[in-house]
Amino acid sequence: MNDERRVMNRVVEQANDFLTGLGSRPVCASRDVDQVAAVLGGPLGDGKDPVQVLDELVAGAGPGLVATPSGRFFGWVIGGVLPAALGADWLTSVWDQNAGLLASSPAAAAAERVAGGWLLDLLGLPADGAVGFVTGAMMANFTCLAAARHAVLARVGWDVERDGLAGAPPLTVVVGAERHDTVDVALRFLGLGPGRSRVVPADDQGRLRLDLLAEVLDDLDPGPLVVCLQAGNVNSGAFDPLGPAIDLVHRFGGWVHVDGAFGLWAAASPALASLTDGLQRADSWATDAHKTLNVPYDSGIAVVADAGAAYAAMGVHAAYLIQDERPDPLATVPEFSRRARGFAVWAGLRSLGHRGVVELVERFCTLAQRFARALAELDGVRVVNDVVFTQVCVAFADDEETREVVRRLLREGTAWMTPSVWQGRAILRISVSNWRTTESDVDRSVDAVRRVLAEVRGASRGG
Ligand SMILES: *Cc1c(COP(=O)(O)O)cnc(C)c1O
Repeated sequence: MNDERRVMNRVVEQANDFLTGLGSRPVCASRDVDQVAAVLGGPLGDGKDPVQVLDELVAGAGPGLVATPSGRFFGWVIGGVLPAALGADWLTSVWDQNAGLLASSPAAAAAERVAGGWLLDLLGLPADGAVGFVTGAMMANFTCLAAARHAVLARVGWDVERDGLAGAPPLTVVVGAERHDTVDVALRFLGLGPGRSRVVPADDQGRLRLDLLAEVLDDLDPGPLVVCLQAGNVNSGAFDPLGPAIDLVHRFGGWVHVDGAFGLWAAASPALASLTDGLQRADSWATDAHKTLNVPYDSGIAVVADAGAAYAAMGVHAAYLIQDERPDPLATVPEFSRRARGFAVWAGLRSLGHRGVVELVERFCTLAQRFARALAELDGVRVVNDVVFTQVCVAFADDEETREVVRRLLREGTAWMTPSVWQGRAILRISVSNWRTTESDVDRSVDAVRRVLAEVRGASRGG
């Protein structure tokens, strides 16, 4: 057998071993970074047989892997991996397409066109919007806000792509107090100085307050304006009052961007329509395929309603590229050569179908509710957010107990839930975002919380 065939056969075995082992292995890693690096390390030395290299990688990296694709992983907002998306992701590497140009891969561009069209349809976004396949929601925020920066400055006669920001008319950015940190990073990359943003306070669920947004806007001098809203708060899962906020900002001539890294997918579900009502009237939207849609990393999506603004802000124009009148995929993203991300998104959507996407999102919500109900029954335990989507925030008797429960849970290995701070209190934070998670995974995880809590209380009573 040649090397490639031996490698691929071995990888299939290794992958199957990992995937079938997910149900029984601890969710946490058993080695830390230094320990894994020591095993993988040493002098580079001579080359080795590729199959041996992969065996070495699996043996060395394995104990340092966190079982993020496990049905009992509820940390951050991670998502799982749909089998079809996983397969397509492997093929993407096998095919090694450069997705930047139509000429370098008609297939990659076609998959992105089709998957992008399905996504716009599922989420009710403008059918002629520009869709860019980027690494994640942070870069999707960046891409959308670059288009926003272009558009609001072009309206006052300033060409920011040519002349930069020095000497430009002032551009006001308004954000909610509970925006994701990556919005600030995107603003930083764009020279928009997140320290200069006008910040609108949030309510007790983390939603931007509409009355205070109105006050901020009333107070501004007319001029270029960009407002960032959020669909899905990383702690509470709450959605900003999208429709009314979008309409208000538009009355002031501003551009509205929505960070919907995991929450945008709520727009696919009629049952969740009250969360996303009016979302479609915004000007740009950032989301991830690697969270709620369960496509492998790295897969973010930037959508800009005014495709011309996206093309103006992004894209590369050089004589050697072989470009025709149809926009190249690189026209909508801040990358040149890149992975053909559309195949995995196409496959994920294709395998679920329209109804499957809706059911996936709704199941996450149902399981989050199940968590909330069961945890609220534990003595001295409170669910501190309204569980409107996929996120559950839990506080124990006091901050110290909460932190100790989370610490022990992460070591115990049944489930993975991350610590956070909400409204000034330590919380245990649960995110349901994996197709693999079942009711029994939720019940087993609640049992683990119950056990750990009893241990913590036993330990503190014992002194
Ligand atoms: C995860 C997340 C981001 C960042 O997304 P990446 O894919 O990690 O770049 C931005 N905003 C929100 C609300 C998120 O949940």
